Amino acid sequence: MLEYAEPVTKLIDEFKRLPSIGQKSAQRLAFHILRMAQTDVERLASALLEVKQRIILCSICNNLTEVDPCRFCASPTRDHSVICVVEEPHSLVAVEKTRSYKGVYHILHGSLSPMRHIGPNELHLANLLPRLKPENNDGVQVREVILATNPNTEGEATANYISRLLKPLGIRTTRIAMGMPVGGDLEYVDEVTMDKALENRHEI
Ligand SMILES: [Zn+2]
Repeated sequence: MLEYAEPVTKLIDEFKRLPSIGQKSAQRLAFHILRMAQTDVERLASALLEVKQRIILCSICNNLTEVDPCRFCASPTRDHSVICVVEEPHSLVAVEKTRSYKGVYHILHGSLSPMRHIGPNELHLANLLPRLKPENNDGVQVREVILATNPNTEGEATANYISRLLKPLGIRTTRIAMGMPVGGDLEYVDEVTMDKALENRHEI
């Protein structure tokens, strides 16, 4: 790395800290930035800062939002008696694309993974159980929790863990159907497959 001037090395090192970015990709990105127009680089830099300054997590569902509660939790037209539990904000987008789901969400920001040392405490799970009580949900009794974690080993383990938590509460708990490729991520599922997966959900 000694062959690059210090600011270039620094930028490459920062890119390498991002997920799925190795040395080669980091170099490619850094050189791309160097070739970009000054105004484009400034726009990118301010977008990075703005997202950190303006985006917070909804205190109810953990969605990324500029206002708390988020637009789903605050909406009078959404069905607050059905909660769809997803791993990441992009999974929420996959469910929204179906246009058939009218309930609200709970975003875990991850999935259980002993390999990566991610246990229940590392997930945004603590604010799920309180929501299920009518007194914490504007008087609305939650009648169903849909577990829409990813159809892979970690997503399954997470769904099983949450269903065990909910069992004693007597709330209907369902899992989306696995019409989608096993081992996949909801991010890459088309809306028709997602719609079918929701429609064919089953009790767990
Ligand atoms: Zn919310």
